[in-house]
Amino acid sequence: MKKHGWGPIRKNKAYLFVALVILITKMFVFNSCRGGRGFVVPNVLPEKTNQLNGADLDDTTLGKPAELNLSADRIRNQSSSEKNGFIASLIQPQKVLISEKKISPPSVLFRPRAVQRTVRVGIIPLQNSVKMFSLKGIKIFEALGESTRFCGLIEGEVVFKAKEKKIEVVTNLELKQNLFLHKLLIISELPVNVEQHSYRGEFEIQCQSNTEALTVINILPVEDYLKGVVPYEIGKLDSSVYDALKVQAVAARTYTLSKIGQNLERGFDVWATVEDQVYSGIKGEYPLCNRAIDETRGQVILYQDQYIQAYYFSTCGGNTTRIEEVWNKPAQPYLVGVKDESGSDVYCGSSKYFQWTEAWGRATLDLILNKTLADEEEINFRSDEIVDFNIVERGQSGRVKILEIVTRHGSYQIFGDRVRWVLRRSDLQNSILRSSYFDLEKKKNNSGQLDTLIVHGRGFGHGVGLCQVGAIGMARRGYHYIEILQHYYKKVGIVRVY
Ligand SMILES: [Zn+2]
Repeated sequence: MKKHGWGPIRKNKAYLFVALVILITKMFVFNSCRGGRGFVVPNVLPEKTNQLNGADLDDTTLGKPAELNLSADRIRNQSSSEKNGFIASLIQPQKVLISEKKISPPSVLFRPRAVQRTVRVGIIPLQNSVKMFSLKGIKIFEALGESTRFCGLIEGEVVFKAKEKKIEVVTNLELKQNLFLHKLLIISELPVNVEQHSYRGEFEIQCQSNTEALTVINILPVEDYLKGVVPYEIGKLDSSVYDALKVQAVAARTYTLSKIGQNLERGFDVWATVEDQVYSGIKGEYPLCNRAIDETRGQVILYQDQYIQAYYFSTCGGNTTRIEEVWNKPAQPYLVGVKDESGSDVYCGSSKYFQWTEAWGRATLDLILNKTLADEEEINFRSDEIVDFNIVERGQSGRVKILEIVTRHGSYQIFGDRVRWVLRRSDLQNSILRSSYFDLEKKKNNSGQLDTLIVHGRGFGHGVGLCQVGAIGMARRGYHYIEILQHYYKKVGIVRVY
């Protein structure tokens, strides 16, 4: 046994020796060809997609070798270097290969919790009558406390009317009863048309006891609801900025879940308008948005295990703001101002509202401000002549914190975002001012009176939380949706709760 065993071992030793000789020879030849050990790579990489010592870095350079012309003090020995999403690897002396950094996607924790996944959306507010129709007919139930009573299946159009604080059902079909004291539940196998729009899910029709009007509530799974929200809130974007859709999906889901059950007296969780989130049912659904919603299913933004107040808006104009600078609301550690840029590259710089100008002639100013100042509930305003405007205080973000409006008989101070509701635009609808991030230019006439007011502004929206055009810009620059969310909401975690 022993003799037999020695043979193969001696053979292995011989192989090992030959391999060692080859390895040492290879190392010697390799090093002498290179003229020294190790690769030489720039210590300093580009700040972003700009320059590497004369070599322009753009999409065409990525993945292609670029010549280097580096001074000795900027060179140190290492095989590769990475910075700001780029990796430079030396492939020959004075030749570097720039490639995009391979980011391993940030992971999402799965911490299941008891979450109510059905949302109640107020789609028709206080209307005297509502039309409904579904291809397979609608089933009407009367809600009696915890139980329901079937009232009939109706094919064709049904009109619900508010009548003497009851709900009247008008159809071409004979019903045993057509006047109901309690709220009605509407169910159909197919989507239901309510007025102009088509919706998934079930419906509740309430008659407000103090008004002669109906409210229609659409009840559906949160994930289905989001499909009618995301395309309206951020737009039907293409696949080059796909992660921006995921960002919007997670933000909108967080907003929705944080609102569920907060308005029990009202009977529903969110309005289908800008008051909460714009929702228009099936009509606006968009396949790429649906995919982003499905791929982030159940993911929300948490701060210390609580849903954050996931505010978002169109364009910040360079930086977002702390919540307490624009609204009379408590500070939140995750809603602080962030610079929306990398170096001199502003993420929302492509927005058409990045910079804007608004001007008012003297007569228009008097007309608008006399109305808006009177509408502001806290201001006891009497019709007056506008004399001057002053920015008394700005917040850290640069937004106007206090605007003083001087009239002939007194002056008024307007706080934060309310400035936009007071200094409305001179368009037909007198829309609110695009943002509170602006400078004033005052033109006076020969007698020194205010003649024209010009506002040079930046951004669109309140400026709290997520900048949507910035999120699109970051997605275009290759950022992952979790990185984007954590850029705008600080100290938060992205967690899948179902
Ligand atoms: Zn921005």
